[in-house]
Amino acid sequence: MNSDIKILVAEDDRAVSNLINTALKAAGYRVITVYNGSEAVTAAASHSPDIILLDLGLPDIDGIEVIERVRGWTETPIIVISARTDDSDKIEALDRGADDYLTKPFSVDELMARIRSTLRRLAHLRSAASSDSVYENGPLRIDYSSGCATLAGEEMHLTSLEYRLLSLLARNTGKVLTHRYIIENVWGSAWESDLGTLRVFMASLRKKLGETDGSPRFIATHIGVGYRMMRID
Ligand code: CA
Repeated sequence: MNSDIKILVAEDDRAVSNLINTALKAAGYRVITVYNGSEAVTAAASHSPDIILLDLGLPDIDGIEVIERVRGWTETPIIVISARTDDSDKIEALDRGADDYLTKPFSVDELMARIRSTLRRLAHLRSAASSDSVYENGPLRIDYSSGCATLAGEEMHLTSLEYRLLSLLARNTGKVLTHRYIIENVWGSAWESDLGTLRVFMASLRKKLGETDGSPRFIATHIGVGYRMMRID
């Protein structure tokens, strides 16, 4: 039921904000509207929204900083809506913990599709978290219920995307996952063709897993196909 879903909209451009509000309400979602970054951080805490739609160019604090602050205590999915079109801006937002990125001008239909895709992922994560809560593979341990990954007892300090990437590989240990499958499940269809971004995140994840070039331990690369989490004895 969409009426159970709360969406926080942080956008200072009133016209864009009204457009988003109207579309969300028409689809039955509950909407919380704020017009600056500090209100966004406060509302994210006080309303516990299911999804946050966030403009990067806010009048007080930058959207990137909003992402960082919110990520300090919650994994609530964040969809960035921004006029910034540079790949570096997208990567920075995703790296700091945003889940998806929509460039202005955007179509309302596309926004609604991204929201549905995010909600499907969220439902999947929530049900997976409740069914099988701890993963262990050699020194790697993932506690899905708390969203915490440790390596030899040390917390790995993963970004939300790295965590999602690691969880996806872990849940499919032994299976080769194609690039396309990984991108669709970690980023959603928005990043369908962006193999370069996947490589960047995979390299960063491997570094945190203590892997160096030429000596894979956890993740095997299948060139031109995808990646596989290996079972460590
Ligand atoms: Ca703005």
